[in-house]
Amino acid sequence: MSAEHFDVLIMGAGLSGIDAAYHLQKCCPKRSYVILEQRERIGGTWDLFRYPGIRSDSDMLTMGYSFRPWTNPKAIAPGDDIRDYVTATARDEGIDRHIRFRHRVQNAAWSSQDASWTVNALRREPDGRETPVTLTCNFLFSCAGNYRYSSGYLPEFPGMDCFAGRIIHPQVWPDDLDYAGKRIIIIGSGATAVTLLPAMAKTASHVTMLQRSPTYVVSMPEQDRIANFLRRLMPDVWAYKLSRWKNVAYMLNVYQLAQRYPNFMKAGIIKKISKELGPGYDVATHFTPRYNPWQQRLCLVPDGDLFQAIRDGRGSVVTGQIERFTEKGIRLQSGEELQADVVVTATGLVLQAFGGANLEVDGRTVDLGKTLAYKGVMLSGVPNLAAVFGYINASWTLKADLICTYVCRLLNLMDRKGARQVTPRNGCEAAVAPFIEIGKFNPGYMERAIDNWPKQGSKPPWRVYQNYLRDIWSLKWSPVENKALEFSGPVQASSRRASEAAGHQPA
Ligand SMILES: Cc1cc2nc3c(=O)[nH]c(=O)nc-3n(C[C@H](O)[C@H](O)[C@H](O)COP(=O)(O)OP(=O)(O)OC[C@H]3O[C@@H](n4cnc5c(N)ncnc54)[C@H](O)[C@@H]3O)c2cc1C
Repeated sequence: MSAEHFDVLIMGAGLSGIDAAYHLQKCCPKRSYVILEQRERIGGTWDLFRYPGIRSDSDMLTMGYSFRPWTNPKAIAPGDDIRDYVTATARDEGIDRHIRFRHRVQNAAWSSQDASWTVNALRREPDGRETPVTLTCNFLFSCAGNYRYSSGYLPEFPGMDCFAGRIIHPQVWPDDLDYAGKRIIIIGSGATAVTLLPAMAKTASHVTMLQRSPTYVVSMPEQDRIANFLRRLMPDVWAYKLSRWKNVAYMLNVYQLAQRYPNFMKAGIIKKISKELGPGYDVATHFTPRYNPWQQRLCLVPDGDLFQAIRDGRGSVVTGQIERFTEKGIRLQSGEELQADVVVTATGLVLQAFGGANLEVDGRTVDLGKTLAYKGVMLSGVPNLAAVFGYINASWTLKADLICTYVCRLLNLMDRKGARQVTPRNGCEAAVAPFIEIGKFNPGYMERAIDNWPKQGSKPPWRVYQNYLRDIWSLKWSPVENKALEFSGPVQASSRRASEAAGHQPA
């Protein structure tokens, strides 16, 4: 029996998968598509992460879709509200009918002869069994996020099994955890740690954020007063457009300022933190990073909730190296011992491309680490494949929207040209940097994954920008046609066989 076929197969029903489906329906209405989603629900990140206080750390006016106003008064929004927004978009646009839940894509093999991908997935049945499912498609669009869903990153700390309390990773938050009145240590200093501290401190006896080194933390109003005011004056669509551009302009300016005048920026951030925490607080040790602002993602805290928890004495920050876990807590290399009933390891994610699926082109496994990213969307030598990887110095969705627009433009150009295959071809561009690079600094999670991720070259179209304005030009306005893109139209095997059977010689 031949496999079910679609024009486009989207992997993942998170923020980006729904975005991709919306754009396909709007700009390529004749193309059939299906979404394969390994989980049981829509939402991806915003469904998976359930730790206390989970929220966006960029404003939803830029993290919302370009086509659907974010009307919630909270611009820094709780995870549940984001999940509801994505789910409602899928429902209202009729996208949910195209989703096949509990389908985990395992591998995808491209055949140039057939100009199609054969996609193998495992379907999880209600009784837990897994059944193999095979589909074919002409274009594979990976919206599978950028990290491993099965488990997060957990460094091996000596003595972890001696600890008498519970150790929890925020990626798998247990429903039964009651931490009221308990002493908590959170290991980490990133967005998750600064979110968890004030949220857990509401009921815990005390929360300590234990960090090896500090991160920049910036307070931002939870509500965007200008956006909320504009919504009272004009239709939601207009208020959203204006507020979105206001925030894009703000973000670009702050980023540029940080790149050009890092010392000025650093001094400004540290001054604000000192003001929040008062004169006696050791800001130099706990909130002054060794790198410059925006060399790693800044951590946003709504209405300074982190600083408030520290001021109230419900939370504290300790900066030091872990020597080992003990029965009662954690001993630091300085000799200090911190006691805890619960330790939360907010130590990060494991980066994973294409949802962990293996890719093959004409029988050869694609070694992702040897490919170059084309416009940050496709891969050198891999036909009819695109992936969403959003910004790390701005809202993910700004880039996801642009990539979805670009893929539709590409598909429509293929139609006009009668091409069934499009392949980015790298002539002589050398790999000069990892896929993600901010300034000259590579975030730790990228360093860990560097070998298995595509690289970028030194100039367009092989550069991956973290710059919205450049990407608007590169993905939305500049011609899709490019000398590095090879369009071809291999004859479909089935039609060739039919033609051969009728006595014609293949060309
Ligand atoms: C805790 C946390 C907070 C974040 N906060 C922000 C923020 O404030 N602002 C921001 O811009 N970004 C943030 N990000 C980045 C975030 O990942 C994006 O905002 C956005 O959710 C990414 O959407 P996505 O759909 O591309 O990926 P995901 O949300 O990761 O969704 C991917 C989907 O693909 C599915 N999938 C994966 N592999 C397979 C497979 N093999 N087969 C089938 N399905 C598969 C997954 O189940 C999932 O549903 C945050 C990330 C995390 C982890």
